Amino acid sequence: MGIVSRFAPSPTGSLHIGGLRTAIFAWFFAKTYDGECLIRFEDTDRQRSKVEYTQSILESFLWMGIEFDRDPFFQSQAKNRHLQIVKKLLKEGKAYYCNCSNERLKGLREGQQRAGIKPKYDGKCRELNLDKGSKQVVRFKNPQSGMVNFKDLVRGSISISNDELDDLILVREDGTPTYNLSVVVDDLDMGITHVIRGEDHINNTPRQINIFKAIGAQLPEYGHVPMILGEDKKRMSKRHGSVGVLEFREMGILPEALLNYLVRLGWSLGDAEFFTLEELVENFQKGKLNNSPAIFSLDKLYWYNREYLSRYKLTDLLTKLSKLDKHFSADHKYSLDVLNLIKDRCSTLVDFTLESQYFFEDTNDFDSNLSRKIFTKEGLEVLVHLNSYIETIEDWNAENIHHAMNSVIEGLKINMSKIGQPFRLAITGTMNSPSIDKIAEILGKETVIFRLDRVIKEFS
Ligand code: GLU
Repeated sequence: MGIVSRFAPSPTGSLHIGGLRTAIFAWFFAKTYDGECLIRFEDTDRQRSKVEYTQSILESFLWMGIEFDRDPFFQSQAKNRHLQIVKKLLKEGKAYYCNCSNERLKGLREGQQRAGIKPKYDGKCRELNLDKGSKQVVRFKNPQSGMVNFKDLVRGSISISNDELDDLILVREDGTPTYNLSVVVDDLDMGITHVIRGEDHINNTPRQINIFKAIGAQLPEYGHVPMILGEDKKRMSKRHGSVGVLEFREMGILPEALLNYLVRLGWSLGDAEFFTLEELVENFQKGKLNNSPAIFSLDKLYWYNREYLSRYKLTDLLTKLSKLDKHFSADHKYSLDVLNLIKDRCSTLVDFTLESQYFFEDTNDFDSNLSRKIFTKEGLEVLVHLNSYIETIEDWNAENIHHAMNSVIEGLKINMSKIGQPFRLAITGTMNSPSIDKIAEILGKETVIFRLDRVIKEFS
């Protein structure tokens, strides 16, 4: 039988890094064995589940290039089927009605806590054979002895004594099925052979295994993926860069870089760092899954992103950028020259926009502190000299521009910074940019002279 895995998000928020990573592991696990990976929206919390979250989760995967097999499954639509299974369990004596009041359960719990025992339903109604009535729940008859053993694909053999497990509620007082029941029935009906999910669900697994057994269905295999933590080893939050997946797109992160980084957070194949999606599919089964928590580092993600950006052919990068920023036009030599010059300074797609501003827009807006410091009387005098040399350049290129700068340095007996600073600020509006002669070459003689002239007039 082929492998079928699944990702089962609750659409009560957008997709975050942790969820995406779990999904990616479930997906590559299926794909590396030529299997299927399905998506199931666990939307039974009708108040908190929202269509827009379902949509943004799907959009996140579309952006990442992760395609699920078959249409999405919605848990809320399978409610009748969940209840049908409960009916069967009741009939077979594997579940029972329980009418214990909340007050009784509260008292029971408090007594157990006082006695230092783990709170657990005491089974009062277990053998009472109560008929259906109002204000009742349905409980699962969890085996009272023996162990639940399973071999976790990530963590190895796990054994839990049935003693530790409760007769958990399958159907609430209001008639709605509970999480553990719905998950089991859906996994069964969807033909899931491998449940790969976050480690936060590991406590549910023995309970779900018992339900599977009671139904008489074949068990899936389980694999629990360790959590991702922030660099301070605390649970991921916004502070650690745990933003929604689509926000990474806004930040100019490439999906292939994010994918590569998230897989490498917890999976390795020798020392190799870089994998395309196809390579991951091919090699996932040969690699090693780590069973300790992974530490998410935004810097490391930027590092991957930079690396992926640097691997782009310049023309392909331009095509990509032209869809995001109207200044870059896909067939423009000027844009290509700009890209070539600034690419080493860019870690994200957004950086290309920020780093290229002065190539596409006039730089008329100088920071007043900077201009006061740089466009001094001496600074402007240097620019006047530079302008006169520059005007005579016939063959406009970086080398000749550099020559002109050297002539000013020699003529006025000043050092490089005395010309570099006012020149840089005048034509770029910033003090932080690549090689100034190369910038000037790309901007063109006319623009350079125009910008120098304007500064000279405005600040003299
Ligand atoms: N819906 C659960 C969650 O979002 C996942 C349940 C599962 O994978 O079994 O955490």
